[in-house]
Amino acid sequence: MILSKQHKQFRAELRAFALEEIAPTARTCDETGDFVKGNVKAMAERGYLGIIWPKKLGGMGLDYLSYAIAVEEVSRVCASTGITLAAHISLGAYPIYKFGTEAQKEKYIPLLARGKTLGSFGLTEPNAGSDAAAVETRATKTDKGYILNGSKRFITSAGYAGVVNVAATLDRKLGRKGVTCFIVETDTPGFSVASEENKLGLRGSNTVELVFEDMLVPKDNILGKEYEGYRIFMETLDGGRISIGAFCLGMAQAALDVLQNWLKDSGRPSQMASKKLADVAMQVEAARLMVYNAALYKDAGERADKQCAFAKLFASEVAAWAAGVAIGAIGPHALTNELPAARVYRDAKLGEIGEGTSEVMRLIIAKEILKELKENG
Ligand SMILES: Cc1cc2nc3c(=O)[nH]c(=O)nc-3n(C[C@H](O)[C@H](O)[C@H](O)COP(=O)(O)OP(=O)(O)OC[C@H]3O[C@@H](n4cnc5c(N)ncnc54)[C@H](O)[C@@H]3O)c2cc1C
Repeated sequence: MILSKQHKQFRAELRAFALEEIAPTARTCDETGDFVKGNVKAMAERGYLGIIWPKKLGGMGLDYLSYAIAVEEVSRVCASTGITLAAHISLGAYPIYKFGTEAQKEKYIPLLARGKTLGSFGLTEPNAGSDAAAVETRATKTDKGYILNGSKRFITSAGYAGVVNVAATLDRKLGRKGVTCFIVETDTPGFSVASEENKLGLRGSNTVELVFEDMLVPKDNILGKEYEGYRIFMETLDGGRISIGAFCLGMAQAALDVLQNWLKDSGRPSQMASKKLADVAMQVEAARLMVYNAALYKDAGERADKQCAFAKLFASEVAAWAAGVAIGAIGPHALTNELPAARVYRDAKLGEIGEGTSEVMRLIIAKEILKELKENG
């Protein structure tokens, strides 16, 4: 896809930034499992933690296509940093920007956009993942606000975040209709990080279990209205799939980078290796078109649940497949940590699960197709 001059410039800027400031620590954070704290600081200094928010709220005022390009370029060199960037903007800040009151936006978006703190999104629980309506964390309404009790699992960046958007139910019997969303400041008494996951991949990203014990959330921190939380979380996830798609695209490109550099350095490639290179390059380009297409829909102000699900599903499967092909073509050397291939392979597997599994993406796509057919008679 041909990019505008501005988008090409932005890509060049991000590529240089990622290579100079992010790439040098990618291998170490994978080996140690240490959070990519320094990379977050570097992105904050450049304004990248607020790419899509208006300048008056501390953002860069850029579009979704620029955002997708940024996540792609960062994830290309370090997927742990890429997922941290994507989760911060799409899951931590987006619901507040889209559904918050003016006062909530003015309080939280500048902090998040300037990287004064990280934002996070707490939906998944031990018994509620794909079925988000099964949320068990309870919210009890009182004169002072809402008392939350419960727990969350697999929450990205929440161990370092100042703000977590939490889903809780006011009435479990109502299923999805009982779900309500709260902006939780992580220094609230009763909030705790119970444990950190020791993951297969994305080891430099922070994934934690949260516990809420009689945690009082002020009335002013309800996000949207009572009983509106399910819609807020689902719409957030639909948009979030553009950045998760971009994150997977970056990993797919990383797999292609390893393969092509290896073949370039090893002389004339065999016919079989040439075929693999061509197939991987073609799939990565197709993933790029889908991700950018979803971003263009968003920039045009259109809801694009199907295009976002296409982008996330396709790019995540291409990333996992491409990393496997690269390892197969290169051979055992690719399994050592001298090349990034094995890291990309492990990181990419998690792209097929977070923000909705591949099975769930297929269900969404089918639902959207049938809805369109019905609407068009
Ligand atoms: C790296 C990472 C980061 C994450 N970050 C966050 C975060 O920041 N915030 C957050 O809230 N969550 C986060 N998650 C959680 C993630 O969104 C869930 O893991 C995911 O939605 C799947 O839910 P589950 O783990 O409960 O699996 P389940 O829903 O139990 O699914 C298990 C299997 O069953 C399949 N399945 C489930 N339902 C259906 C169905 N109806 N039809 C067909 N197949 C089905 C799934 O596809 C999957 O293969 C993260 C996960 C990972 C891996």
